[in-house]
Amino acid sequence: MQDLDSHASPSRLETSNAKTMMDIGTRRIFNEDHDIFRQSVRRFFQEEVVPHHKEWEKAGQVSRELWEKAGEQGLLGVMIPEEHGGIGGDVFSAAITWEEQMYCNCTGPGFTLHSDVVMPYIVNYGSKEQVERFIPNMTAGKCITAIAMTEPGAGSDLQGVRTYAKKDGNDWILNGNKVFISNGWMADLVVVVTVTNREAKTAAHGISLFLVEDGMKGFQKGRKLDKIGLKAQDTAELFFKDVRLPASALLGELNKGFYYLMNELPQERLLIADMAIASCEFMFEETRNYVLQRKAFGKTISHLQTVQHKLAELKTEICVGRTFVDNCLQLLSEKRLDPSTASMAKFWASELQNKVASQCLQLHGGWGYMWEYPIAKAFVDSRVQPIYGGTNEIMKELIARSIVSQK
Ligand SMILES: Cc1cc2nc3c(=O)[nH]c(=O)nc-3n(C[C@H](O)[C@H](O)[C@H](O)COP(=O)(O)OP(=O)(O)OC[C@H]3O[C@@H](n4cnc5c(N)ncnc54)[C@H](O)[C@@H]3O)c2cc1C
Repeated sequence: MQDLDSHASPSRLETSNAKTMMDIGTRRIFNEDHDIFRQSVRRFFQEEVVPHHKEWEKAGQVSRELWEKAGEQGLLGVMIPEEHGGIGGDVFSAAITWEEQMYCNCTGPGFTLHSDVVMPYIVNYGSKEQVERFIPNMTAGKCITAIAMTEPGAGSDLQGVRTYAKKDGNDWILNGNKVFISNGWMADLVVVVTVTNREAKTAAHGISLFLVEDGMKGFQKGRKLDKIGLKAQDTAELFFKDVRLPASALLGELNKGFYYLMNELPQERLLIADMAIASCEFMFEETRNYVLQRKAFGKTISHLQTVQHKLAELKTEICVGRTFVDNCLQLLSEKRLDPSTASMAKFWASELQNKVASQCLQLHGGWGYMWEYPIAKAFVDSRVQPIYGGTNEIMKELIARSIVSQK
């Protein structure tokens, strides 16, 4: 895929003046080639995901077939360079895949985590052999991946991880357990955050990343966790008991894992922010349609001034958020997105998503509380956004640190 960034057009409508917030052909960060790509991604989600999602919500996971279909359509590894086995698209094309998933209100497929969180670790820090072995299969949807940082006793405080790998000749022996791992149940390959030096001057200096493959002796998956939302996403516990890892399973350099995590987390945070704003756009349009047809006191509720003002407030806030997040996408494409700005986007957009979810549900009345209405699903799915990818309290810590250290 060519680099589409070079011919972005300044004359396109922005979200605030487009007919609907999900219109194709809007926003100056995109161009006509992106629009064509967006059409095909939208079609994919409508045809291959929407009809099956209810069944996947019951199963607690999507199908493997879906992953392979997404691979065939070129929807995985979109911004991974072609020479490494990816699709070779730009940041904006990847963002289209994030947004379209939210526009169809189907949170089951863990494509973004796989493509835009895990793949960059392998491409940026992996050996030539690791890249050649895993990336083409990941792009094809034949190798599903996860990243395991969180443990029962260590979430926000990543330096508190206990999972430990001990050197044994050229091999490593891995012991420990992880929790809340997205794609964890289906994963063929997991990037595992592990302590490798307990005597390091700080915990951060003694952490490494390992590539652990499904089927390795001693690697066990626990249950699929029963969540209040993201029902079709396979979030799992992982257990490692004396797993023997060859030296070639180390990702990047020994004891550099924490540094790699700090480098890659801004992109993860921005994709959460972009998905949050896209979800707001979806919820807003759902609600606009609802109030235009729901009648009370002889007229549609869209005639009520309180409803109109609520929609005006929500639209204004969503458009303000969209502008900031689009600017962050631009910065990411120029490799200028700093951790503090990414944290602002993640914190603010995910808070907004929860506010929009709650207020749009309210405008649906009792029907909004019924599972059959899309707003109900969007409401429960939004709740996790201020929690994962680093909680919003941690985002504020990161933002604050950059404020007080600048003087
Ligand atoms: C659905 C789901 C999917 C997930 N997917 C993954 C995944 O794929 N991989 C992965 O590794 N993890 C994943 N996580 C884990 C997630 O990143 C953690 O839950 C999160 O980082 C918070 O950690 P914790 O749950 O241990 O909460 P804790 O760290 O125990 O925090 C509890 C509360 O204390 C607050 N707190 C903690 N420290 C501070 C501080 N210094 N200042 C202020 N407040 C503080 C927190 O903000 C929070 O409100 C997932 C979680 C969920 C729910």
